[in-house]
Amino acid sequence: MNPELRNLITLQDIELKSAELHKQLSDIPRQIQDLNDELERLTSAHEERVAIAKELANRRRTLEGQVDMLQTKLSRLKDQLMTVKTNKEYTAMLHEIQTAEGQIREEEDRILEVMEEMEARDQDIEAARQELGTESAGLRDSIRAAGDSVPGLEEQLARLGAEKEAVEALVDRELLARYRQIAAARKGVALAEAKDELCSCCHVRIRPQMYADLLRTDAILYCDSCSRILFTREES
Ligand SMILES: [Zn+2]
Repeated sequence: MNPELRNLITLQDIELKSAELHKQLSDIPRQIQDLNDELERLTSAHEERVAIAKELANRRRTLEGQVDMLQTKLSRLKDQLMTVKTNKEYTAMLHEIQTAEGQIREEEDRILEVMEEMEARDQDIEAARQELGTESAGLRDSIRAAGDSVPGLEEQLARLGAEKEAVEALVDRELLARYRQIAAARKGVALAEAKDELCSCCHVRIRPQMYADLLRTDAILYCDSCSRILFTREES
C-alpha cells in the first residue's frame, strides 16, 4: 500500500475517534442536567405527597375538635333537659339534642373517610420514600460518574490531538489538502475501503480497470461516485 495512504488511514481513524470523543464530552453537561431534572422531579413529587399527608392530618384534627365541641354541647343540652318546665321546652330541647347527635355522626363519618385516605396514602408514602432513596442514589451515582469521565476524555483528546499532528506532518501537503476538502464535504470520512469491487462508503461498483490499478499500483485513486480516496486491504 502507498505509505501516504497508510498515513491518511491512520489520520482518519484518529479524527473519527476524536469526533466521537468530542461528542461524548459535549453531551455530558446535557446528560447531567437531565439527571438533575429527574432527581428534582422525583424529590418534589415526594414532597407533594408528604404535604398532602400533612394536610389530611390537619383536617382530621380539625374534625376531631369539632366533634369534641359538639359532644360538650350535647352533654350540656342533656343536663338542661332535666331542668325544663314545659312540654314545649322539652320538645325543643330534644330536637336540639337530636340535631347535635346527627352532626356528631356526620363529623365522625368525615373523620373515617379522612383516616381511610390517610391509611392508603401512608402506605404509598412509605413505599415512595424507599423508592426515592434508591432512585436518587442511582441518579447521584450517574451524575458523579458523568462528571468524573470528563478528565479522562479530555486526556484522550489531547493525546489524539498530538498523534494527529505527528501523522499530518508525514503526509504530502497537496494530498492532505485534498483529503481535507473531501472530509469536509463527506462528514469527516474522506477515505473509503474498496472491497469486492465496491466502494464501501457509497456502495457503487468500481470500474474493473480502476480496481485492478488499486490492487496493483500505488496510485491515489478516487471513487467515481462519492469522490472519496480509495484504498484496499486486498492483495492482487
Ligand atoms: Zn464511493
